[in-house]
Amino acid sequence: MTAPVLLWLHRELRLADNPLFAHNAGRRLVVTYVLDDETPGAWKPGGAARWWLHHSLGRLAASLAAIGGRLVLRRGPVATVIPEVAAQIGATEVHAGETAEPWLRRAQASVAATPGLTLTLHRTRLLFHPGDIRTGGGSPYGVFTPFARACLARGLPAPPESAPKRLVAGPQVASERLADWRLLPATPDWAGGLREAWEPGEAGAQKRLARFLGQALDGYGERRNQPGAEGTSRLSPHLAWGEISPAQAWLAAEAAGGNGLRAWVHELLWREFAAHLLWHHPHMAEKPLRPVFARMPWRDDPAALAAWRKGETGIGIVDAGMRELWHTGWMHNRVRMVVASFLVKHLLLPWQAGEAWFWDTLVDADLATNAASWQWVAGSGVDAAPYFRIFNPDLQAAKFDPDGAYVRRWSGAKRPPIVDLAAGRARALAAFRALGEPAP
Ligand SMILES: Cc1cc2nc3c(=O)[nH]c(=O)nc-3n(C[C@H](O)[C@H](O)[C@H](O)COP(=O)(O)OP(=O)(O)OC[C@H]3O[C@@H](n4cnc5c(N)ncnc54)[C@H](O)[C@@H]3O)c2cc1C
Repeated sequence: MTAPVLLWLHRELRLADNPLFAHNAGRRLVVTYVLDDETPGAWKPGGAARWWLHHSLGRLAASLAAIGGRLVLRRGPVATVIPEVAAQIGATEVHAGETAEPWLRRAQASVAATPGLTLTLHRTRLLFHPGDIRTGGGSPYGVFTPFARACLARGLPAPPESAPKRLVAGPQVASERLADWRLLPATPDWAGGLREAWEPGEAGAQKRLARFLGQALDGYGERRNQPGAEGTSRLSPHLAWGEISPAQAWLAAEAAGGNGLRAWVHELLWREFAAHLLWHHPHMAEKPLRPVFARMPWRDDPAALAAWRKGETGIGIVDAGMRELWHTGWMHNRVRMVVASFLVKHLLLPWQAGEAWFWDTLVDADLATNAASWQWVAGSGVDAAPYFRIFNPDLQAAKFDPDGAYVRRWSGAKRPPIVDLAAGRARALAAFRALGEPAP
């Protein structure tokens, strides 16, 4: 009998177009997922992400069982748990997905250095290796447009691999019970809106893609900016958990066609760009990419932060967005930009506070995209929005939600604004100028 192989799944919770399975077809497999709440520096999944993870793992376990496999669940620091499981099943080969997340890269390096083990990394979550796309001179890109051009020059992704029909199970090894992980909220059960909005798992991802592409991509370029319309795919949590590969999404979009195709593919490339940035700037989730921002005189105002989190700022579109986020674990991209800009500019609160709240409440929380987007809005990122571009939330609402449908749907009781928009804007401009940011 051939030696078993350990597949270490993390954010590639699918069977189809998953190189971990395709590469190891016909071999004796043990498939494991490790919940790591212990490794120092690890970004533990937040509350909404844990809800998603529970359901995604449950569905993956059922899909594996249907083809003769089994999902082995373990908890603990991955760099210790993976070599332990490998030793228990007598595997010398571990296969996992490439990642840009610094803590996971460190853990993978530690597994790779374990005597007697080889770790093979596969491209499971991204179209390109995050360190691969470089300028002609060999440096990483700092600006999106040429990065995207370089990506597109590589052509279309390879056709997706189909899901394995049958697995050859490796040796039996102990698994924890998913229910014991307590990933779901206890009391109060705040997940009702999440249950209504989403179907986690690979089948749910395919349904979502089919529904989105059913209208082809005609008009996506305009509709994607209207929070009141269902104009975007809402695939982000499925992509974030790897229930669908970006190549599957891209190729299905090519087949569907439509005048919004290029714009949509660009969104997939923004996701690649974020991973590329995190790869080259491993501190991006914690520290500003532009060092001068370390001197930013952010305010410390717990009451304002709490009002923002709860959607009680008195600014209609901001409150609507924050309540949509709380109820569904998701927020429209345009509104994410508006609420983020309001937090860091009108309230002058640190982007890391917003990043942390998004991390805890988004079902699509993704370390690279979340950090890159927050830094972009704050002005501290590479290729960031210029500091003097301060969204006026009321004007944004008038432009993108002209009939007020979105704000009416989500915003709660009317309340007086916690900040005067003009005064907040002036305070932000003064702070940015004091930082030495050049005038427009
Ligand atoms: C402050 C802030 C924080 C954000 N945090 C996250 C996050 O944690 N996780 C996350 O997936 N997205 C994040 N985004 C990006 C974006 O808002 C979501 O990806 C998008 O709203 C998802 O909706 P969709 O799937 O309908 O997108 P579509 O318009 O259908 O786009 C298709 C896919 O492209 C990717 N994508 C779209 N927009 C962006 C973008 N601006 N940057 C990177 N990738 C993008 C997503 O994977 C998305 O599913 C953030 C944006 C902002 C402004």
